[in-house]
Amino acid sequence: MKHRSAEKASAREAKFDLCVIGGGATGAGCALDAQLRGLRTLLLDAGDFASAASSASTKLVHGGVRYLEQAVKHFNLEEYRMVKRALRERLYMLANAPHLAHAAHFLVPVYSWPRAGYYLAGMKMYDAVAGKSNLFPSSFLSREETLARLPGLKAKNLRGAVCYSDGQFDDARYDLALVETFTEAGGSALNYMRVTGFDRDDTGRLAAAMVRDELSLDEFKIMASKFVNATGTGADKVRSLANPLLASRMRPSKGVHLLFPAETFPGMDALLVPQTEDGRVIFAVPWQERLLVGTTDDEVTPATRMMVEKDEADYLLRQLNPYLETPLRREQAVSGMAGLRPLVAEPGQTDTSRLLRDHEVELDSSSGLISILGGKWTTHRLMAEDAINAVQREMGGPVTPCLTRQYSLAGAPGYNKDFSKSLEQEYSLPADTARHLAGKFGRRASKILELLQENPSWKTRIATGLPAIQAEIVYCIRNEMAETIEDLLARRTGAQMYGWREAIEAAPVVASLLAREKNWDSTRTTAAVSEYSAKIREFLKQLEPCED
Ligand SMILES: Cc1cc2nc3c(=O)[nH]c(=O)nc-3n(C[C@H](O)[C@H](O)[C@H](O)COP(=O)(O)OP(=O)(O)OC[C@H]3O[C@@H](n4cnc5c(N)ncnc54)[C@H](O)[C@@H]3O)c2cc1C
Repeated sequence: MKHRSAEKASAREAKFDLCVIGGGATGAGCALDAQLRGLRTLLLDAGDFASAASSASTKLVHGGVRYLEQAVKHFNLEEYRMVKRALRERLYMLANAPHLAHAAHFLVPVYSWPRAGYYLAGMKMYDAVAGKSNLFPSSFLSREETLARLPGLKAKNLRGAVCYSDGQFDDARYDLALVETFTEAGGSALNYMRVTGFDRDDTGRLAAAMVRDELSLDEFKIMASKFVNATGTGADKVRSLANPLLASRMRPSKGVHLLFPAETFPGMDALLVPQTEDGRVIFAVPWQERLLVGTTDDEVTPATRMMVEKDEADYLLRQLNPYLETPLRREQAVSGMAGLRPLVAEPGQTDTSRLLRDHEVELDSSSGLISILGGKWTTHRLMAEDAINAVQREMGGPVTPCLTRQYSLAGAPGYNKDFSKSLEQEYSLPADTARHLAGKFGRRASKILELLQENPSWKTRIATGLPAIQAEIVYCIRNEMAETIEDLLARRTGAQMYGWREAIEAAPVVASLLAREKNWDSTRTTAAVSEYSAKIREFLKQLEPCED
């Protein structure tokens, strides 16, 4: 990516074919698709890229076994087709960025024979729906095999487990790889740039967006022929800026996750908890040396805070613990995350867990705004394809072929699973750091390590126990438009997910590198560290044990 100030200066002068608003999975996917079709495209996000739902997911590349069950139970053909499409997209997502996404095994434990039959039949159906896109065939594992693979499972009355396959990925880095690939294809991208209004031409169609730089607070206009609204749960707001008469469509639902040390529930496979209080499923997934547990599905109210609340953490543990030999406690959690699903509702629909995870492209014929609503991470590419087809139809020219099905993302070309070993040897790196760099940056990791020639001390870790090193921070400031401590710890390096305490320890180191690269003075640097640390301490408070 270009330096932010240079990108901003050229965006002010340019006239774009397309301006994509929102730099989550959907917007980044739209921007890449459009640029590859030859449209001069600008991508804007009000915060950092991937700072909303797109870094708060369960990190599954999946069709959704629960959605298939619902489709069958309710004879819902639409939901069945949605699962089928997502299973096809799963393959593209895994193939386009193998450093960021991989196939994984999921185990559904069974404690009665009728349940074993039910789950196995369900997973065989999941395989069949995937058809040629299937990853591995599902199978039944004996009690012994199950306990060998997940030794922490409750053993009493365990009959075995049904094992099926799905994908897992690094959501924040996948989003950044989409943005990176887009800018390398010639696109322009700006984070911290909020769309606050629109200008229209004589016919009432959108001709320019009013934007506010959320870092400097200056405001200016962006000229573009077409605008795509890919703002997730913010979609209604942007729709109303374009046309105040449009009725609201978004029904956000909050979901949280907790992360625990991997040894609290050892094993290489993921666990699907099939029965919960509200009829949903919960996952406990090994993820980057941690155990990721989630998720919840709660309606958003004015009191909703974007953090894991005590009662949400307790809910997750209440669902998971009956399946564990040694129950987990809230205070064992090392971090967590909260996000809002951008679900689309028909007027009158209320239960968010029953809302379809499908997407919809909406054209507002009066303003010309194209909104891409709903969907999920797994289908971001297809959503983008549908949205950019609509853009080209609106432009009145031909709808040209979409090129993103097989398109390697930044860091992917030349990557293979032995790459971390070669980094380890070539740069004498500890194995965890080599694995971390290869997994987050793919082949780009070499560029990070080349920075050690400029300053060998950047090989130092950013905090005790974290695999991330200082060179990575410098690389992300220079090449990935990282502007704040949180951009670096939450999304670029994943340190904030690894552990909140480690993130607080790393904050001053990261701030001093930001100060060096961006000429921050000491007042600004100190303020940035205290603001970040206070926010993370507030999160940590929710994990404290109860007094009684
Ligand atoms: C708890 C949870 C678990 C999930 N798990 C999975 C999963 O395992 N697998 C899966 O496939 N999907 C999953 N999803 C769904 C998936 O994460 C989302 O569907 C996807 O990330 C949505 O991406 P998006 O780009 O549409 O929205 P977002 O990621 O929310 O991005 C919208 C962006 O628009 C920006 N924006 C808003 N207003 C403006 C404005 N005025 N100007 C400029 N920018 C603006 C925001 O800053 C934001 O970055 C999960 C979601 C949640 C919440």
